[in-house]
Amino acid sequence: MENCIFCKIIAGEIPSAKVYEDEEILIFKDIAPIAKIHLLCVPKEHFAYLSELNGTREDLLGRTLSKIASLAPTLGLADGYRLVINQGETAGQTVHHLHIHILGGEPLKWE
Ligand code: AMP
Repeated sequence: MENCIFCKIIAGEIPSAKVYEDEEILIFKDIAPIAKIHLLCVPKEHFAYLSELNGTREDLLGRTLSKIASLAPTLGLADGYRLVINQGETAGQTVHHLHIHILGGEPLKWE
């Protein structure tokens, strides 16, 4: 989608530190990490919110979570990790292309 920073990253128009890519998703390092390991997992299809899920996207999201789980050891997350999806203004969502924050690499506080 035009003017979507994550679509531009997916298209290779903006550089990113990629750690995994397949035909459906891209995982890259967050530019402003809040944990020792802070990755972003984005579906290549542009949609902004969980409220836009349909059957196809539900299947994609399921596969995406399975993929994150299977990749975790190779991403340095064998000891555990936290997944976060910010939804909307109240949650502080700043990029309106659905993305999963993957946090770990150190003990995480829950505040
Ligand atoms: P959210 O607040 O859930 O919308 O998170 C958006 C995330 O995207 C933030 O953690 C930003 O640091 C991150 N971000 C924004 N631009 C880039 C970029 N060009 N490369 C990597 N991460 C980015």
